[in-house]
Amino acid sequence: MKLEGRIALVTGGGSGIGRAIAHLFADEGALVVVNDVRLEAAEKTVKEMRDPGRGRALQADVADSGQVRTMFVALEREFGALDVLVNNAGVATTSGEDREAIAKRAETRIMETLGGQGVETHLDVTQHLSDEAWRRMLAVHLDGTFFCTREALRLMSRRNRGAIVNISSVAALMGLETVPHYSAAKGAILSFTRAVAREVASRGIRVNAICPGFIDTPMTQPMPPLLRAAALARTPLGRNGEPREVAATALFLASDDGSFFTGQWLSPNGGLFTG
Ligand code: NAP
Repeated sequence: MKLEGRIALVTGGGSGIGRAIAHLFADEGALVVVNDVRLEAAEKTVKEMRDPGRGRALQADVADSGQVRTMFVALEREFGALDVLVNNAGVATTSGEDREAIAKRAETRIMETLGGQGVETHLDVTQHLSDEAWRRMLAVHLDGTFFCTREALRLMSRRNRGAIVNISSVAALMGLETVPHYSAAKGAILSFTRAVAREVASRGIRVNAICPGFIDTPMTQPMPPLLRAAALARTPLGRNGEPREVAATALFLASDDGSFFTGQWLSPNGGLFTG
């Protein structure tokens, strides 16, 4: 058991990668606080644990510092400490974005490229991105990571130990042309990871990031078939990843197996990005 007796918080743990991380951590002996913006999603993750007694569901929108504070007050009251934080909560789109139109243009571009006649269709995402869509994307990913990290460090600093794992993305490493705001948020999370890792290393707290490639979850489920095929064609292992493969990476970084890792990123991506 790699996390025996540890207390962990996984944000966005009601679905996909977060749920797989919560389940693996509980199987490895941790007491897992499962956060989600929807309480019922977090509760479902806890209910589906092999031992639901190892989980506790707490609702909060991580983009709201007041809600994050309230969640940490409840966590501290119940558990008194925190050993592991996984900043995982995220969204791929925000309301008001015409994702279907962007996907259609992306598909048309692929056909034009394959046709060899030159590309005449432009993605034009950034020039139509609203203030609200930009801000909400950064709020959920970047503000959320900051708000939770700030609270976690206050708890971890009391015992001078802890591990923080931030879920970034290959979007941070490569830039994904259909989601510039998502790519910006994930890139900022990487820089934040590096800076905080250096800052808190003297307290025995490690901070690392994971940059997953395309993983089969509800987030990637709406990808149109042609875009999915294009992503697979760029992935040497020829398949999407599974949430459990990201969870295994998170376990490595969160546990003593990763004891000499800090300020780093690991990218389970099937070879999509090899830099
Ligand atoms: P997912 O299945 O949609 O899970 C994300 C979870 O986070 C959902 O339960 C979601 O709730 C919750 N959430 C969203 N906004 C929140 C907020 N403000 N506060 C608290 N919880 C919130 O997506 P996933 O694929 O597992 O993604 C998990 C993380 O991995 C994200 O940070 C994502 O950007 C990153 N990632 C995913 C992939 C991929 O290919 N799937 C690749 C690279 C990185 P709702 O469902 O209600 O929105």
